[in-house]
Amino acid sequence: MRNRSQSAFRQLIFPNGLLVIIGTVALAFAPIPAEFHQSAKLLCMAILAGCILLAPRLHSLRGFMAAASLACYLAFIQFALADVAVNRCAAALVACNFALLLLVEDVFFDWQAVTWWLGFMAVQWTSFTALSRWETAMFSTIAGKHLDLSFASIGPLELIFALSLTLLLCRFIYSPDAVGAGLAWALVPLSMTLRDRGIPEAYIAVSGLAVAIAVIERSHWIAYHDELTGLPGRRAFNEALAGLGAVYGIAIVDVDHFKKFNDTFGHETGDQVLRKVAALLSKVGGGGSAYRCGGEEFALLFPESTLEDCKYYAEEMRRSIEEDVFVARGPSRSTREREERRTTGARGRHPSRVETSVTVSIGVSEPANSYQDVYEVIAAADKALYNAKHLGRNRVEVFSPRQARKASLARAAANRAPSAKN
Ligand code: GH3
Ligand code: MG
Ligand code: MG
Repeated sequence: MRNRSQSAFRQLIFPNGLLVIIGTVALAFAPIPAEFHQSAKLLCMAILAGCILLAPRLHSLRGFMAAASLACYLAFIQFALADVAVNRCAAALVACNFALLLLVEDVFFDWQAVTWWLGFMAVQWTSFTALSRWETAMFSTIAGKHLDLSFASIGPLELIFALSLTLLLCRFIYSPDAVGAGLAWALVPLSMTLRDRGIPEAYIAVSGLAVAIAVIERSHWIAYHDELTGLPGRRAFNEALAGLGAVYGIAIVDVDHFKKFNDTFGHETGDQVLRKVAALLSKVGGGGSAYRCGGEEFALLFPESTLEDCKYYAEEMRRSIEEDVFVARGPSRSTREREERRTTGARGRHPSRVETSVTVSIGVSEPANSYQDVYEVIAAADKALYNAKHLGRNRVEVFSPRQARKASLARAAANRAPSAKN
């Protein structure tokens, strides 16, 4: 999981983390002068409007909801003309809304969920505005209160921010994604509105920017990664190929008898196996990177590696996949057999959990005098893979120039043979 945690950390820090830290520190230590208040307000409105328009286009439900919540806060500050204490409580309300987004599944852009959220926002902010008119003293008491915890003295509003941020970070650690990181970071500048340091609109603008960047980052991730396994996908592979130098190695990895595996354990278990294989491949050594090319086929790219090194690291991968025991739900749970059991009423014929494993065959190749083009090198690795399948699977085969010559001679001989007969 080393690579997974590295990529999650990168997703958390770059670019959103850096941007938010720089923006927040800059605003805290060099506050925007009061004469630029109007410009900050306009900039903030432009960023939030952009994010609200962009999120549906890029199908980010949580991005849209977060931006709508920030826009309500901005509107409240502009139009409710409440005192500072009430505005601070309003910021804490936004933090609660962000924490609530933990319950939202960002699978597709659900317009019904959008309608519910906008309705909820309307009711929430109308009630808050009404309450702030009648109970201003109550908000002043909340904002001015300090809770003496054993380790620190903290106000209830800061506590709300700290709890919301912790929840968002826990979710990010459990399931890292760009929007999760963006929501967590967006709370940081927003929490600065609890302090008397400059114009609140400037901090809201940085929060909005964090959400907007998260929405764009999510689309970038979708474009370059395979959703099932989380590995970089075909597009990333093609780009990596274009950036290769003169020395490199390519390994094409294919799961053995995977169709049979799917038929035995069901497609869902097959998916889990692909995730497992991908997780193991992502740990490949020798400076290699793993990609999912499609179906049950993966590629390992070794920039600046010799064929011998590629073979060594491919063999290491083959062995670790073979040795990895996977606990699958029993064969009786496969779709076909489940249906069979339902119609025949058979029970307990198979154990519900079985230990199993899969193997992979790997074809490795590198550029040679006779094939310099990267797509020819891939074709050579494919041939080596075909060879590995032919020789009994669960093995690594190399396509060397000598073998290439032998294979082309054999092909030529095979082509000549029928014509000779004729
Ligand atoms: P071989 O050892 O020759 O590679 O045999 P195979 O059965 O692995 O090869 P074949 O190409 O006949 O079958 C590939 C199977 O991979 C068929 C398809 O159902 C399955 N497959 C492709 N993509 C996915 C996927 O995303 N999830 C699951 N569960 N199965 C997939
Ligand atoms: Mg295949
Ligand atoms: Mg296969």
